[in-house]
Amino acid sequence: MHGQLIEQINQNGGKVDAWFLTHAHDDHVGAFTKIIQDTDIEIDKVYVSTNDLSWYEQYEKERIDFTKTFLTTLKTEKLQGKVIEPKLNEKIQVGGIAVEVLGIKNPEITDNAGNEQSMVLKFTTKNSSLLILGDTGEKSSKKLLQSQKEKLKSDIVQMAHHGQNGATKELYEAVSPKICLWPTPDWLWNNDTGAGTNTGLWKTFETRKWTEELQVKENYVAKDGKQSIEI
Ligand SMILES: [Zn+2]
Repeated sequence: MHGQLIEQINQNGGKVDAWFLTHAHDDHVGAFTKIIQDTDIEIDKVYVSTNDLSWYEQYEKERIDFTKTFLTTLKTEKLQGKVIEPKLNEKIQVGGIAVEVLGIKNPEITDNAGNEQSMVLKFTTKNSSLLILGDTGEKSSKKLLQSQKEKLKSDIVQMAHHGQNGATKELYEAVSPKICLWPTPDWLWNNDTGAGTNTGLWKTFETRKWTEELQVKENYVAKDGKQSIEI
């Protein structure tokens, strides 16, 4: 799918000011990795929070091939001096957007290890705020509620772990979003792998119920391609 992303970047000037990578999983940083390897697209800064390879070898061996490729890509010549590991609560200004780092890697969380390393980022513009949760899970949700509760409230939220079995209900209550972004294919939104609506093993309907209870105004469900929202 990196072709679509390349097209978007090229349509917007062909240069990236800041690229935020939540965690070292293929479905989150695969396109970035391919773009670095295959194109000359210029990227000014890359923000990422990762452990070293031995941590992933210990706690997430099943994904180690991609992790190696990703960590190696971050060290390529092309990205020298551009890769930044932000500190917790760091504030980064990108043009008119203020970005606050509410969560970084959590190496002490070793269940659901890779997902729980997700950076959590709050983007604030003049009119609106957007919370990016990556694949935040239960334990990092608790940690966020303990240390960042007041800052979590946002107009728009990216649903953690594609909207199922990710962040907790309590976390979404603290976010209290008006709009939810679901980076989720239709079959997963419907929890339907062929036998009908809500017959699969995924927990999307549980999360959908939470958003109803929170009186979310709009749910945008999209996996690939471009979806624009005016804020
Ligand atoms: Zn994911």
